[in-house]
Amino acid sequence: MLYNTEGIVIRAIPYGETNAIVTLLTPSGTIAAMARGAKKPQSRLAGGVQLCVKAVYTLYQGRGMGNIQQLEVVDAYRKLREQLDLAAYAAYFSELVAAVGEERPNGSEAVYRWFSAALDRLRDGRDNPQIVARIWETKVLHLLGASPIWNQCVRCHTELAQETVFYAPGEGGFLCPSCQVELEQQSVQGSFHAGRRGAFPVPSSVPKVLAQFRNLPWERIGQIRLSPNTAEVIRNVLRYQLADYGGLSLKSREFVDSIDALWTD
Ligand SMILES: [Zn+2]
Repeated sequence: MLYNTEGIVIRAIPYGETNAIVTLLTPSGTIAAMARGAKKPQSRLAGGVQLCVKAVYTLYQGRGMGNIQQLEVVDAYRKLREQLDLAAYAAYFSELVAAVGEERPNGSEAVYRWFSAALDRLRDGRDNPQIVARIWETKVLHLLGASPIWNQCVRCHTELAQETVFYAPGEGGFLCPSCQVELEQQSVQGSFHAGRRGAFPVPSSVPKVLAQFRNLPWERIGQIRLSPNTAEVIRNVLRYQLADYGGLSLKSREFVDSIDALWTD
């Protein structure tokens, strides 16, 4: 069967001397496909098998992995490969979406549109890439089913309004002060699962900001201003939520962190 689909390369690995295997995110889900000969410089496929390229692909689907027959580049997103910090973020965003994207035809068009818009925001350079990343992470957590209702206590479900609330990595969300005290007492009595990361206090603004992020349209991202402290807390909360609760520990994340460290040192 031969068919056309728009797609964005979210993973690309060389295969043999001249071939590439790519994973495409399409409006109806992810597909792995072989691009034969794509590593030859004169190949018609060469421009469409690099990370984050958006193209219309013509695929032949027999049994097993599909074959890319031809492609027409829609948007090369060149800057996302040429500029080191943006490349780090683009690789991280791609690895996240590859981890949560459903296979074609069970994927969602919303995921495709969100991802495509996230790449646009990164490339356009108007926003702080760290904020784009935090918003993308909250969306990914939601797709994973690992997102709490951020502005509620995960134990007693009261709305969080206190001056200080606590983030409890093992609980997968925020705790009100009284639930935090209760959890600590259980922990002392030994009934609390040992080896979990302890809860830490966060400013009361943080749950509200995260609740906003989850539904924020990309167009409004420019209005977000975070103090350095709030940004740092949000970064840690989302990192623990993705790793400890969502089960996603990604290699590309370490590279993003080292790039960020260059800017903050
Ligand atoms: Zn509570």
